[in-house]
Amino acid sequence: MTVGVLALQGSFNEHIAALRRLGVTGLEIRRAEQLQSIAALIIPGGESTTMAKLAECHNMFPALRKFVKMGKPVWGTCAGLIFLANKAIGQKAGGQELVGGLDCTVHRNFFGSQIQSFEADLSIPHLADKEGGPSNFRGIFIRAPAILEVGPEVEVLAEVSVPSNKATNSNSSECSQELNKVIVAVKQGNLLGTAFHPELTADTRWHSYFLKMVSEVGEATSSVVTASGDS
Ligand code: GLN
Repeated sequence: MTVGVLALQGSFNEHIAALRRLGVTGLEIRRAEQLQSIAALIIPGGESTTMAKLAECHNMFPALRKFVKMGKPVWGTCAGLIFLANKAIGQKAGGQELVGGLDCTVHRNFFGSQIQSFEADLSIPHLADKEGGPSNFRGIFIRAPAILEVGPEVEVLAEVSVPSNKATNSNSSECSQELNKVIVAVKQGNLLGTAFHPELTADTRWHSYFLKMVSEVGEATSSVVTASGDS
């Protein structure tokens, strides 16, 4: 199984290293045509405006949108989550181009600036294994987005309490609600989004979770091929 990692900017090396620890080859993706040779894609954290400019420069948006529409598994972490969202707020006028597909609204830099980056223990039942392994995960949030709205097909996988030094997000004209908790991990079909950075930890459970999604798609596709071959 070859999993692509969008390698325009950001923490792509760390994702590739995490995949390697699980015995999977991660291919650095910098050109649209490379998307044809991969089973799934990870869009890393970084800086989403810069990543969008580079993707535009390399004319990658049409191919990325096609990849998502084809139902191939895609996981966006942090800036990658912003890329995958249908709508992003909390940015300068003019915004930025998004790949879209994930039916949610993300608020960029929701928790504040770089110095308000933080770590938090998250409870994620989906990560617990059948043997009753732990479901907690230490999330690293670096100038992270939060998910403020989700559509009906989106499954919420994790929430985080808003740190007390960020009691309101009233400095954004687009969002005046006061929130105690926000969504930080979601799944919609074959799309996965996390506002934090699992690739910066030694814990590979999120990568394993994504690879399981990828192999399930592979199995479903091969059973369709077999079924049509039989008829
Ligand atoms: N704040 C960044 C953005 O808006 C994302 C930060 C990250 O990926 N760690 O793109």
